Amino acid sequence: MAWYTETTTKKNKSKKELWVKCKKCHSHIYAKEWKENLNVCPNCNYHGAISSYERINLLFDENTFEELFTNISPKDSLKFNDLKGSYKDKYEANIKKTGINEAVVTGHGKMNGIPVVIAVMDFRFLGGSLGSGTGEKILQAANYAYDHNLPYIVISASGGARMQEGALSLMQMAKTCAGVARLNRKNIPYISVLTNPTTGGVSASYAMMGDINVSEPGALIGFAGRRVIEQTIGEKLPDNFQTAEYLREHGFVDSIVNRKDLKDYLSNVLSYYNR
Ligand SMILES: [Zn+2]
Repeated sequence: MAWYTETTTKKNKSKKELWVKCKKCHSHIYAKEWKENLNVCPNCNYHGAISSYERINLLFDENTFEELFTNISPKDSLKFNDLKGSYKDKYEANIKKTGINEAVVTGHGKMNGIPVVIAVMDFRFLGGSLGSGTGEKILQAANYAYDHNLPYIVISASGGARMQEGALSLMQMAKTCAGVARLNRKNIPYISVLTNPTTGGVSASYAMMGDINVSEPGALIGFAGRRVIEQTIGEKLPDNFQTAEYLREHGFVDSIVNRKDLKDYLSNVLSYYNR
């Protein structure tokens, strides 16, 4: 009964568009309300994923953001294939799906009147993985901040290194670290914002190097996964292990800031540097 299946699919689709299920408290939130609340659950404050451009709209003063380095995109240097197909096909599909050409959007603009350079990672693009194009954009944006004496902010959302690029991906860790470390020579502030999730090679490089490391509430932040660590050390880990709150308790994260307050928090911190 083809007509029945079709109707059901249509019905399910519209249902899906109307409601968002919170991944933490599992309550159903009206999609419009979810969006108005910046993809944050009004019941439990779970901070859901947000795209780079949505984040940029949220943080920058109207019509001040200018995107940079849009010509940098992934390169399939290893001609990598796995059982599901080629890396090239995969990133080309991701470019089409997300409308961005890498797992990070870079640019500059004004935040409550303060000029800043920013790199905003986007988890929708290959899990926000750190490939050579991603690393290059983060480095170029750091260089732009250095050349123009502007503060640099990186907002991370990443599963870690991009495995399809092998060692080339791992090299981005050193490259990006060198880029943000150079800002110290000119006393240019570098703020790292860690969002859910910031793991693997990203957490082990530039994401933890901020003069100030800020996180959104409840973000998963860590290098190896919980199961891997538990199996390695043969011990059970605390429930809140690898959360932003646990990292703040242990001195790795300086502040936890709600998404709606992030713009004011960042511009406030930067205003101290500008004095
Ligand atoms: Zn919730």
